[in-house]
Amino acid sequence: MATLTETVKKPEIRQTQCFIGGNWTPAASGKTFDTINPATEEVITQVAEGDKKDVDLAVKAARDALENGPWGKMDARERGRLMYRLADLIEDELDELAALETLDNGKPIRDSRGADLPLTIDCLRYYAGYADKIHGQTIPVRGNYFTYTRREPVGVAGQIIPWNFPMLMVAWKWGPALAAGCTIVMKPAEQTPLTCLRMGRLAQKAGIPDGVINIVPGFGPTAGGAIVKHPDVDKVAFTGEDATAKIIMRDASDTLKRLTFELGGKSPNIVFADADLDAAALGAHVALYFNQGQCCCAGSRLFVEDKIYDKFVDKLISMNETRKLGDPLDPETEQGPQVDQAQFDKIMRFVDIGREQGAKCVSGGKRFGDRGFFVEPTMFTEVEDNMDIAQKEIFGPVLSVLRFKDTDEVIKRGNATHFGLAAAVWTRDVNKAHRLAAELKAGTVWVNCYDVFDAAAPFGGFKMSGMGRELGEKGLDAYTESKTQELLE
Ligand code: NAD
Repeated sequence: MATLTETVKKPEIRQTQCFIGGNWTPAASGKTFDTINPATEEVITQVAEGDKKDVDLAVKAARDALENGPWGKMDARERGRLMYRLADLIEDELDELAALETLDNGKPIRDSRGADLPLTIDCLRYYAGYADKIHGQTIPVRGNYFTYTRREPVGVAGQIIPWNFPMLMVAWKWGPALAAGCTIVMKPAEQTPLTCLRMGRLAQKAGIPDGVINIVPGFGPTAGGAIVKHPDVDKVAFTGEDATAKIIMRDASDTLKRLTFELGGKSPNIVFADADLDAAALGAHVALYFNQGQCCCAGSRLFVEDKIYDKFVDKLISMNETRKLGDPLDPETEQGPQVDQAQFDKIMRFVDIGREQGAKCVSGGKRFGDRGFFVEPTMFTEVEDNMDIAQKEIFGPVLSVLRFKDTDEVIKRGNATHFGLAAAVWTRDVNKAHRLAAELKAGTVWVNCYDVFDAAAPFGGFKMSGMGRELGEKGLDAYTESKTQELLE
Protein backbone atom coordinates (compact mmCIF):
# COMPACT_ATOMS: atom_id res chain seq x y z
CA MET A 1 0.00 0.00 0.00
CA ALA A 2 1.29 3.47 -0.86
CA THR A 3 2.40 5.61 2.08
CA LEU A 4 0.95 9.05 2.60
CA THR A 5 4.19 10.65 1.40
CA GLU A 6 4.11 8.64 -1.82
CA THR A 7 0.46 9.55 -2.41
CA VAL A 8 1.25 13.20 -1.80
CA LYS A 9 4.14 13.13 -4.24
CA LYS A 10 2.39 11.16 -6.99
CA PRO A 11 -1.34 11.65 -7.31
CA GLU A 12 -2.54 9.63 -10.27
CA ILE A 13 -3.81 11.52 -13.30
CA ARG A 14 -6.75 9.46 -14.48
CA GLN A 15 -9.47 11.61 -16.02
CA THR A 16 -8.49 14.09 -18.75
CA GLN A 17 -11.39 13.78 -21.20
CA CYS A 18 -14.85 15.26 -21.46
CA PHE A 19 -17.48 13.53 -19.31
CA ILE A 20 -20.72 13.46 -21.26
CA GLY A 21 -23.73 11.23 -20.69
CA GLY A 22 -21.66 8.90 -18.53
CA ASN A 23 -18.94 8.48 -21.20
CA TRP A 24 -15.36 9.75 -21.16
CA THR A 25 -14.67 11.09 -24.62
CA PRO A 26 -12.04 13.20 -26.40
CA ALA A 27 -13.16 16.67 -27.48
CA ALA A 28 -15.08 16.56 -30.79
CA SER A 29 -12.34 18.74 -32.32
CA GLY A 30 -9.66 16.31 -31.13
CA LYS A 31 -7.89 19.27 -29.49
CA THR A 32 -6.24 19.24 -26.06
CA PHE A 33 -4.62 21.85 -23.83
CA ASP A 34 -1.83 21.61 -21.28
CA THR A 35 -2.43 21.92 -17.58
CA ILE A 36 0.67 23.20 -15.78
CA ASN A 37 2.14 22.59 -12.33
CA PRO A 38 2.53 26.18 -11.08
CA ALA A 39 5.29 25.22 -8.65
CA THR A 40 7.60 23.87 -11.37
CA GLU A 41 6.12 25.33 -14.58
CA GLU A 42 6.12 21.77 -15.99
CA VAL A 43 3.24 20.31 -17.98
CA ILE A 44 1.25 17.85 -15.84
CA THR A 45 -0.85 16.46 -18.65
CA GLN A 46 -3.06 17.32 -21.64
CA VAL A 47 -6.78 17.74 -21.16
CA ALA A 48 -9.55 17.60 -23.77
CA GLU A 49 -10.35 21.08 -25.09
CA GLY A 50 -14.12 20.99 -25.31
CA ASP A 51 -16.06 23.59 -27.28
CA LYS A 52 -19.54 24.19 -28.69
CA LYS A 53 -19.94 20.70 -30.18
CA ASP A 54 -19.12 19.05 -26.85
CA VAL A 55 -21.37 21.45 -24.97
CA ASP A 56 -24.24 20.63 -27.36
CA LEU A 57 -23.80 16.93 -26.60
CA ALA A 58 -23.51 17.59 -22.86
CA VAL A 59 -26.69 19.70 -22.79
CA LYS A 60 -28.54 17.01 -24.73
CA ALA A 61 -27.36 14.38 -22.24
CA ALA A 62 -28.37 16.59 -19.30
CA ARG A 63 -31.84 17.25 -20.76
CA ASP A 64 -32.34 13.57 -21.51
CA ALA A 65 -31.27 12.58 -17.97
CA LEU A 66 -33.68 15.12 -16.52
CA GLU A 67 -36.70 14.19 -18.61
CA ASN A 68 -36.24 10.56 -19.59
CA GLY A 69 -33.72 9.08 -17.18
CA PRO A 70 -34.28 7.77 -13.64
CA TRP A 71 -33.18 11.09 -12.07
CA GLY A 72 -36.34 13.06 -12.76
CA LYS A 73 -38.55 10.47 -11.07
CA MET A 74 -36.13 9.43 -8.36
CA ASP A 75 -37.30 9.50 -4.78
CA ALA A 76 -35.75 12.56 -3.13
CA ARG A 77 -34.31 10.40 -0.33
CA GLU A 78 -32.51 8.29 -2.90
CA ARG A 79 -31.08 11.44 -4.51
CA GLY A 80 -29.78 12.45 -1.10
CA ARG A 81 -28.35 8.97 -0.52
CA LEU A 82 -26.33 9.15 -3.76
CA MET A 83 -24.97 12.54 -2.70
CA TYR A 84 -23.92 11.15 0.70
CA ARG A 85 -22.23 8.32 -1.16
CA LEU A 86 -20.32 10.80 -3.33
CA ALA A 87 -19.16 12.66 -0.21
CA ASP A 88 -18.01 9.35 1.32
CA LEU A 89 -16.03 8.43 -1.79
CA ILE A 90 -14.32 11.81 -1.76
CA GLU A 91 -13.46 11.26 1.90
CA ASP A 92 -12.01 7.83 1.09
CA GLU A 93 -9.67 9.46 -1.45
CA LEU A 94 -8.99 12.59 0.58
CA ASP A 95 -5.18 12.41 0.51
CA GLU A 96 -4.98 11.66 -3.18
CA LEU A 97 -7.51 14.37 -4.11
CA ALA A 98 -5.74 16.91 -1.91
CA ALA A 99 -2.46 16.09 -3.64
CA LEU A 100 -4.08 16.39 -7.07
CA GLU A 101 -5.55 19.77 -6.13
CA THR A 102 -2.16 20.96 -4.92
CA LEU A 103 -0.41 19.70 -8.06
CA ASP A 104 -2.82 21.47 -10.41
CA ASN A 105 -3.44 24.66 -8.42
CA GLY A 106 -0.26 25.13 -6.37
CA LYS A 107 -2.02 25.57 -3.03
CA PRO A 108 -0.16 24.12 -0.02
CA ILE A 109 -1.11 20.54 0.77
CA ARG A 110 -1.88 21.57 4.36
CA ASP A 111 -4.64 23.82 2.96
CA SER A 112 -6.03 21.41 0.39
CA ARG A 113 -6.06 18.63 2.97
CA GLY A 114 -7.09 20.79 5.93
CA ALA A 115 -9.58 23.20 4.32
CA ASP A 116 -10.60 22.55 0.70
CA LEU A 117 -11.35 18.84 1.04
CA PRO A 118 -13.21 18.93 4.39
CA LEU A 119 -15.32 21.88 3.21
CA THR A 120 -16.06 20.10 -0.07
CA ILE A 121 -17.26 16.97 1.74
CA ASP A 122 -19.24 18.99 4.27
CA CYS A 123 -21.01 21.00 1.55
CA LEU A 124 -22.12 17.87 -0.31
CA ARG A 125 -23.40 16.30 2.92
CA TYR A 126 -25.20 19.49 3.92
CA TYR A 127 -27.11 19.58 0.64
CA ALA A 128 -27.65 15.80 0.60
CA GLY A 129 -29.69 16.33 3.77
CA TYR A 130 -31.80 18.92 1.95
CA ALA A 131 -32.82 16.68 -0.96
CA ASP A 132 -36.01 15.46 0.79
CA LYS A 133 -36.76 18.71 2.60
CA ILE A 134 -37.63 21.01 -0.27
CA HIS A 135 -41.14 22.08 0.69
CA GLY A 136 -43.77 24.28 -0.86
CA GLN A 137 -46.55 26.11 1.02
CA THR A 138 -50.30 26.05 1.26
CA ILE A 139 -51.71 29.55 0.84
CA PRO A 140 -55.11 30.87 1.94
CA VAL A 141 -56.59 32.85 -0.99
CA ARG A 142 -59.95 34.53 -1.66
CA GLY A 143 -62.69 32.24 -3.01
CA ASN A 144 -63.08 28.50 -3.11
CA TYR A 145 -59.62 27.53 -4.16
CA PHE A 146 -57.07 25.25 -2.62
CA THR A 147 -53.77 26.97 -3.43
CA TYR A 148 -50.36 25.52 -2.88
CA THR A 149 -46.83 25.88 -4.20
CA ARG A 150 -44.36 23.24 -5.30
CA ARG A 151 -40.69 23.70 -5.80
CA GLU A 152 -39.44 22.11 -8.97
CA PRO A 153 -35.87 21.82 -10.25
CA VAL A 154 -34.96 24.76 -12.46
CA GLY A 155 -33.82 22.25 -15.10
CA VAL A 156 -30.44 21.99 -16.81
CA ALA A 157 -27.91 24.08 -14.89
CA GLY A 158 -24.79 25.44 -16.60
CA GLN A 159 -22.02 25.91 -14.05
CA ILE A 160 -18.79 27.79 -14.73
CA ILE A 161 -16.12 27.89 -12.04
CA PRO A 162 -12.73 29.54 -11.39
CA TRP A 163 -9.35 28.07 -10.42
CA ASN A 164 -8.81 29.34 -6.89
CA PHE A 165 -10.81 26.63 -5.05
CA PRO A 166 -11.41 24.11 -7.82
CA MET A 167 -12.97 21.24 -5.82
CA LEU A 168 -14.79 23.41 -3.34
CA MET A 169 -16.42 25.38 -6.15
CA VAL A 170 -17.60 22.07 -7.64
CA ALA A 171 -19.28 21.21 -4.31
CA TRP A 172 -20.85 24.68 -3.97
CA LYS A 173 -22.38 24.23 -7.42
CA TRP A 174 -23.24 20.52 -7.50
CA GLY A 175 -24.58 20.38 -3.93
CA PRO A 176 -27.68 22.57 -4.31
CA ALA A 177 -28.22 21.59 -7.97
CA LEU A 178 -28.33 17.86 -7.21
CA ALA A 179 -30.40 18.31 -4.05
CA ALA A 180 -32.97 20.25 -6.08
CA GLY A 181 -33.04 17.57 -8.78
CA CYS A 182 -31.37 19.56 -11.57
CA THR A 183 -28.94 18.13 -14.09
CA ILE A 184 -25.58 19.77 -14.74
CA VAL A 185 -23.19 20.88 -17.46
CA MET A 186 -20.03 22.13 -15.77
CA LYS A 187 -16.97 23.86 -17.14
CA PRO A 188 -13.97 23.86 -14.79
CA ALA A 189 -11.33 26.58 -15.11
CA GLU A 190 -8.75 25.86 -17.79
CA GLN A 191 -5.94 26.25 -15.22
CA THR A 192 -7.30 23.56 -12.86
CA PRO A 193 -9.49 20.92 -14.52
CA LEU A 194 -8.11 17.77 -12.84
CA THR A 195 -9.99 17.48 -9.53
CA CYS A 196 -13.31 18.42 -11.13
CA LEU A 197 -12.86 15.60 -13.65
CA ARG A 198 -11.91 13.20 -10.84
CA MET A 199 -15.11 14.18 -9.04
CA GLY A 200 -17.01 13.25 -12.20
CA ARG A 201 -15.55 9.76 -11.93
CA LEU A 202 -16.49 9.56 -8.25
CA ALA A 203 -20.05 10.71 -9.01
CA GLN A 204 -20.30 7.89 -11.53
CA LYS A 205 -18.93 5.42 -8.95
CA ALA A 206 -21.45 6.71 -6.41
CA GLY A 207 -24.24 5.69 -8.79
CA ILE A 208 -25.42 9.14 -9.88
CA PRO A 209 -27.15 8.26 -13.17
CA ASP A 210 -25.46 8.95 -16.52
CA GLY A 211 -26.08 12.42 -17.89
CA VAL A 212 -26.96 14.00 -14.53
CA ILE A 213 -23.46 15.47 -14.28
CA ASN A 214 -21.57 16.39 -17.44
CA ILE A 215 -18.17 18.07 -17.50
CA VAL A 216 -16.72 19.92 -20.48
CA PRO A 217 -13.18 21.16 -19.83
CA GLY A 218 -12.06 23.97 -22.11
CA PHE A 219 -11.69 27.73 -22.40
CA GLY A 220 -14.03 30.53 -21.33
CA PRO A 221 -15.15 32.17 -24.55
CA THR A 222 -15.57 28.81 -26.37
CA ALA A 223 -16.80 26.10 -23.96
CA GLY A 224 -18.05 28.61 -21.34
CA GLY A 225 -19.67 30.86 -23.95
CA ALA A 226 -21.44 27.87 -25.54
CA ILE A 227 -23.00 26.91 -22.18
CA VAL A 228 -24.18 30.47 -21.58
CA LYS A 229 -25.71 30.87 -25.05
CA HIS A 230 -27.28 27.42 -25.28
CA PRO A 231 -31.09 27.72 -25.58
CA ASP A 232 -31.68 24.50 -23.66
CA VAL A 233 -29.70 25.53 -20.56
CA ASP A 234 -32.14 26.96 -18.00
CA LYS A 235 -29.76 28.60 -15.58
CA VAL A 236 -26.12 29.65 -15.36
CA ALA A 237 -24.23 29.78 -12.08
CA PHE A 238 -20.91 31.54 -12.49
CA THR A 239 -18.02 32.28 -10.18
CA GLY A 240 -15.24 34.47 -11.48
CA GLU A 241 -14.41 38.04 -12.40
CA ASP A 242 -16.93 40.84 -12.75
CA ALA A 243 -15.63 41.55 -16.28
CA THR A 244 -16.53 37.98 -17.29
CA ALA A 245 -19.93 38.26 -15.56
CA LYS A 246 -20.78 41.27 -17.77
CA ILE A 247 -20.06 39.21 -20.90
CA ILE A 248 -22.12 36.31 -19.52
CA MET A 249 -25.03 38.62 -18.73
CA ARG A 250 -25.02 39.90 -22.30
CA ASP A 251 -24.63 36.39 -23.76
CA ALA A 252 -27.45 35.05 -21.57
CA SER A 253 -29.86 37.84 -22.46
CA ASP A 254 -31.13 36.27 -25.69
CA THR A 255 -32.48 33.30 -23.77
CA LEU A 256 -33.24 35.20 -20.54
CA LYS A 257 -31.52 32.60 -18.39
CA ARG A 258 -31.64 32.60 -14.64
CA LEU A 259 -28.24 33.87 -13.47
CA THR A 260 -26.34 33.71 -10.22
CA PHE A 261 -22.94 35.34 -9.91
CA GLU A 262 -20.23 35.09 -7.27
CA LEU A 263 -17.64 37.70 -8.21
CA GLY A 264 -14.66 39.57 -6.84
CA GLY A 265 -14.03 41.83 -3.89
CA LYS A 266 -11.83 44.44 -2.26
CA SER A 267 -12.89 43.67 1.27
CA PRO A 268 -12.23 46.13 4.11
CA ASN A 269 -10.72 44.56 7.22
CA ILE A 270 -10.96 47.12 10.03
CA VAL A 271 -8.82 46.99 13.17
CA PHE A 272 -9.70 49.29 16.09
CA ALA A 273 -7.16 50.14 18.79
CA ASP A 274 -9.27 48.38 21.44
CA ALA A 275 -9.08 44.98 19.69
CA ASP A 276 -7.08 41.97 20.81
CA LEU A 277 -4.17 43.02 18.62
CA ASP A 278 -2.41 39.65 18.45
CA ALA A 279 -5.61 37.98 17.29
CA ALA A 280 -6.30 40.82 14.86
CA ALA A 281 -2.79 40.66 13.40
CA LEU A 282 -3.04 36.92 12.83
CA GLY A 283 -6.53 37.47 11.41
CA ALA A 284 -5.29 40.17 9.04
CA HIS A 285 -2.37 37.99 7.92
CA VAL A 286 -4.59 35.00 7.16
CA ALA A 287 -7.34 37.19 5.67
CA LEU A 288 -4.98 38.28 2.92
CA TYR A 289 -2.27 35.67 2.45
CA PHE A 290 -4.38 32.48 2.72
CA ASN A 291 -4.49 30.70 -0.63
CA GLN A 292 -1.69 32.97 -1.96
CA GLY A 293 -4.07 35.92 -1.76
CA GLN A 294 -6.30 34.29 -4.37
CA CYS A 295 -9.55 34.59 -2.42
CA CYS A 296 -12.55 36.56 -3.61
CA CYS A 297 -13.12 37.66 0.00
CA ALA A 298 -9.46 38.47 0.79
CA GLY A 299 -9.11 41.25 3.36
CA SER A 300 -7.09 43.28 0.90
CA ARG A 301 -7.86 46.76 2.33
CA LEU A 302 -6.61 46.65 5.89
CA PHE A 303 -7.75 49.76 7.81
CA VAL A 304 -5.77 50.23 11.03
CA GLU A 305 -6.61 52.88 13.64
CA ASP A 306 -4.03 55.64 13.68
CA LYS A 307 -2.87 55.21 17.28
CA ILE A 308 -1.81 51.58 16.81
CA TYR A 309 -0.81 51.78 13.14
CA ASP A 310 2.99 51.52 13.49
CA LYS A 311 2.91 48.85 16.17
CA PHE A 312 0.39 46.80 14.17
CA VAL A 313 2.38 47.08 10.94
CA ASP A 314 5.48 45.78 12.78
CA LYS A 315 3.55 42.71 13.90
CA LEU A 316 2.45 42.06 10.33
CA ILE A 317 5.96 42.46 8.92
CA SER A 318 7.39 39.94 11.36
CA MET A 319 4.68 37.43 10.41
CA ASN A 320 5.54 37.87 6.72
CA GLU A 321 9.22 37.30 7.48
CA THR A 322 8.56 33.87 8.99
CA ARG A 323 5.98 32.75 6.45
CA LYS A 324 7.19 29.55 4.83
CA LEU A 325 7.12 29.59 1.02
CA GLY A 326 8.13 26.62 -1.10
CA ASP A 327 7.10 23.25 -2.48
CA PRO A 328 3.32 23.12 -1.95
CA LEU A 329 3.49 19.34 -1.55
CA ASP A 330 5.66 19.80 1.56
CA PRO A 331 3.30 19.66 4.58
CA GLU A 332 5.27 22.49 6.25
CA THR A 333 4.69 24.97 3.40
CA GLU A 334 2.34 27.86 4.15
CA GLN A 335 2.43 29.63 0.79
CA GLY A 336 2.71 28.11 -2.67
CA PRO A 337 2.92 29.66 -6.14
CA GLN A 338 0.29 31.77 -7.86
CA VAL A 339 -1.81 29.72 -10.25
CA ASP A 340 -0.16 30.72 -13.54
CA GLN A 341 2.15 33.08 -15.37
CA ALA A 342 -0.68 35.52 -16.19
CA GLN A 343 -1.62 35.94 -12.52
CA PHE A 344 2.05 36.25 -11.54
CA ASP A 345 2.59 39.00 -14.13
CA LYS A 346 -0.61 40.84 -13.10
CA ILE A 347 0.44 40.84 -9.44
CA MET A 348 3.97 42.06 -10.18
CA ARG A 349 2.47 44.90 -12.27
CA PHE A 350 0.37 45.94 -9.27
CA VAL A 351 3.50 45.95 -7.09
CA ASP A 352 5.16 48.34 -9.57
CA ILE A 353 2.03 50.52 -9.71
CA GLY A 354 1.86 50.66 -5.90
CA ARG A 355 5.42 52.00 -5.78
CA GLU A 356 4.83 54.42 -8.67
CA GLN A 357 1.71 55.87 -7.01
CA GLY A 358 3.62 56.57 -3.79
CA ALA A 359 2.74 53.74 -1.40
CA LYS A 360 5.60 52.30 0.65
CA CYS A 361 6.52 48.63 0.12
CA VAL A 362 7.56 47.48 3.60
CA SER A 363 7.61 43.75 3.02
CA GLY A 364 8.27 41.45 0.04
CA GLY A 365 7.65 42.89 -3.42
CA LYS A 366 9.72 40.35 -5.36
CA ARG A 367 9.58 36.94 -6.97
CA PHE A 368 10.52 34.06 -4.66
CA GLY A 369 12.94 31.45 -6.03
CA ASP A 370 13.87 30.96 -9.66
CA ARG A 371 11.15 28.67 -10.95
CA GLY A 372 7.42 28.49 -10.33
CA PHE A 373 5.06 31.44 -10.01
CA PHE A 374 5.98 32.38 -6.43
CA VAL A 375 5.48 35.92 -5.09
CA GLU A 376 6.80 37.01 -1.70
CA PRO A 377 4.17 38.05 0.85
CA THR A 378 4.04 41.75 0.07
CA MET A 379 2.75 44.67 2.08
CA PHE A 380 2.29 48.35 1.29
CA THR A 381 1.80 51.01 3.95
CA GLU A 382 0.76 54.66 3.58
CA VAL A 383 -1.81 53.57 1.02
CA GLU A 384 -4.37 56.18 -0.05
CA ASP A 385 -7.97 55.29 -0.94
CA ASN A 386 -7.67 56.37 -4.56
CA MET A 387 -4.56 54.30 -5.39
CA ASP A 388 -5.00 51.33 -7.71
CA ILE A 389 -3.76 48.91 -5.03
CA ALA A 390 -6.61 50.12 -2.79
CA GLN A 391 -9.29 49.98 -5.48
CA LYS A 392 -8.61 47.03 -7.79
CA GLU A 393 -8.72 43.35 -7.04
CA ILE A 394 -5.10 42.12 -7.17
CA PHE A 395 -5.90 38.48 -6.38
CA GLY A 396 -2.41 37.88 -5.00
CA PRO A 397 -0.36 38.20 -1.77
CA VAL A 398 -0.28 42.01 -1.75
CA LEU A 399 -1.73 43.75 1.29
CA SER A 400 -2.63 47.46 1.35
CA VAL A 401 -2.61 49.02 4.82
CA LEU A 402 -4.59 52.23 5.27
CA ARG A 403 -4.75 54.53 8.29
CA PHE A 404 -8.00 55.80 9.90
CA LYS A 405 -8.95 57.99 12.86
CA ASP A 406 -12.63 57.51 13.66
CA THR A 407 -15.61 55.22 13.21
CA ASP A 408 -17.75 57.34 10.85
CA GLU A 409 -14.78 57.90 8.61
CA VAL A 410 -13.82 54.24 8.34
CA ILE A 411 -17.38 53.12 7.57
CA LYS A 412 -17.54 55.63 4.74
CA ARG A 413 -14.13 54.71 3.37
CA GLY A 414 -14.77 50.97 3.83
CA ASN A 415 -17.89 51.29 1.67
CA ALA A 416 -16.19 53.42 -0.99
CA THR A 417 -15.78 50.62 -3.54
CA HIS A 418 -17.97 49.10 -6.23
CA PHE A 419 -17.42 45.71 -4.57
CA GLY A 420 -19.34 44.40 -1.54
CA LEU A 421 -18.45 40.78 -0.93
CA ALA A 422 -17.08 40.68 2.64
CA ALA A 423 -15.80 42.88 5.46
CA ALA A 424 -14.41 42.38 8.96
CA VAL A 425 -14.18 44.36 12.18
CA TRP A 426 -11.82 43.79 15.09
CA THR A 427 -12.90 45.44 18.36
CA ARG A 428 -13.82 44.61 21.96
CA ASP A 429 -16.63 47.22 21.91
CA VAL A 430 -19.87 45.34 21.24
CA ASN A 431 -21.79 48.46 20.21
CA LYS A 432 -19.17 49.38 17.66
CA ALA A 433 -19.15 45.79 16.38
CA HIS A 434 -22.93 45.80 15.84
CA ARG A 435 -22.89 49.21 14.21
CA LEU A 436 -20.18 48.32 11.71
CA ALA A 437 -21.70 44.92 10.95
CA ALA A 438 -24.95 46.73 10.08
CA GLU A 439 -23.47 49.64 8.14
CA LEU A 440 -20.81 47.95 6.03
CA LYS A 441 -22.24 47.11 2.63
CA ALA A 442 -21.09 43.53 2.21
CA GLY A 443 -22.66 40.10 1.87
CA THR A 444 -20.71 38.81 4.89
CA VAL A 445 -19.30 40.77 7.84
CA TRP A 446 -16.99 38.93 10.22
CA VAL A 447 -16.45 40.28 13.74
CA ASN A 448 -13.20 39.32 15.50
CA CYS A 449 -12.68 36.54 12.96
CA TYR A 450 -12.13 36.09 9.23
CA ASP A 451 -12.78 33.50 6.51
CA VAL A 452 -15.29 31.57 8.60
CA PHE A 453 -17.15 29.44 6.07
CA ASP A 454 -19.92 26.95 6.64
CA ALA A 455 -22.14 25.25 4.09
CA ALA A 456 -25.16 26.43 6.12
CA ALA A 457 -24.29 30.17 5.98
CA PRO A 458 -25.27 32.00 2.76
CA PHE A 459 -22.41 33.67 0.91
CA GLY A 460 -22.44 36.23 -1.89
CA GLY A 461 -22.01 39.85 -2.78
CA PHE A 462 -23.61 43.27 -2.61
CA LYS A 463 -23.02 45.66 -5.51
CA MET A 464 -20.65 44.35 -8.21
CA SER A 465 -19.55 41.38 -6.10
CA GLY A 466 -22.42 39.24 -7.25
CA MET A 467 -26.05 38.38 -7.73
CA GLY A 468 -27.88 35.89 -5.55
CA ARG A 469 -26.37 33.75 -2.79
CA GLU A 470 -24.67 30.39 -2.59
CA LEU A 471 -24.73 28.00 0.38
CA GLY A 472 -27.43 27.63 2.98
CA GLU A 473 -31.11 27.50 2.11
CA LYS A 474 -30.73 30.54 -0.13
CA GLY A 475 -28.25 28.61 -2.27
CA LEU A 476 -30.90 25.96 -2.83
CA ASP A 477 -33.53 28.52 -3.86
CA ALA A 478 -31.39 29.41 -6.86
CA TYR A 479 -31.93 25.90 -8.27
CA THR A 480 -35.71 25.68 -7.87
CA GLU A 481 -38.68 27.23 -9.60
CA SER A 482 -41.76 27.89 -7.50
CA LYS A 483 -44.96 26.66 -9.13
CA THR A 484 -48.37 27.80 -7.86
CA GLN A 485 -51.19 25.26 -8.26
CA GLU A 486 -54.82 26.28 -7.66
CA LEU A 487 -57.72 23.83 -7.46
CA LEU A 488 -61.38 24.76 -7.39
CA GLU A 489 -62.77 23.04 -4.30
P1 NAD B 1 -12.59 34.37 -14.79
O1 NAD B 1 -13.82 35.16 -14.81
O2 NAD B 1 -11.50 34.73 -15.73
O3 NAD B 1 -12.88 32.82 -15.09
C1 NAD B 1 -13.82 32.09 -14.37
C2 NAD B 1 -14.42 31.03 -15.25
O4 NAD B 1 -15.14 31.67 -16.30
C3 NAD B 1 -13.39 30.13 -15.94
O5 NAD B 1 -13.89 28.81 -15.98
C4 NAD B 1 -13.31 30.71 -17.33
O6 NAD B 1 -12.89 29.80 -18.31
C5 NAD B 1 -14.75 31.14 -17.54
N1 NAD B 1 -14.94 32.16 -18.58
C6 NAD B 1 -14.06 33.11 -18.99
N2 NAD B 1 -14.60 33.84 -19.98
C7 NAD B 1 -15.85 33.35 -20.21
C8 NAD B 1 -16.89 33.69 -21.12
N3 NAD B 1 -16.77 34.67 -22.00
N4 NAD B 1 -18.04 32.99 -21.05
C9 NAD B 1 -18.20 31.99 -20.16
N5 NAD B 1 -17.23 31.62 -19.31
C10 NAD B 1 -16.07 32.29 -19.32
O7 NAD B 1 -12.09 34.37 -13.30
P2 NAD B 1 -10.79 33.70 -12.70
O8 NAD B 1 -9.64 34.57 -13.03
O9 NAD B 1 -10.72 32.27 -13.09
O10 NAD B 1 -11.13 33.71 -11.15
C11 NAD B 1 -10.83 34.73 -10.32
C12 NAD B 1 -12.05 35.59 -10.01
O11 NAD B 1 -13.08 34.80 -9.40
C13 NAD B 1 -11.75 36.68 -9.04
O12 NAD B 1 -12.30 37.89 -9.47
C14 NAD B 1 -12.43 36.21 -7.75
O13 NAD B 1 -12.71 37.22 -6.86
C15 NAD B 1 -13.60 35.49 -8.26
N6 NAD B 1 -14.10 34.53 -7.28
C16 NAD B 1 -15.26 34.81 -6.61
C17 NAD B 1 -15.76 33.94 -5.67
C18 NAD B 1 -17.03 34.23 -4.94
O14 NAD B 1 -17.61 33.31 -4.37
N7 NAD B 1 -17.52 35.45 -4.95
C19 NAD B 1 -15.10 32.75 -5.40
C20 NAD B 1 -13.92 32.48 -6.09
C21 NAD B 1 -13.43 33.39 -7.04
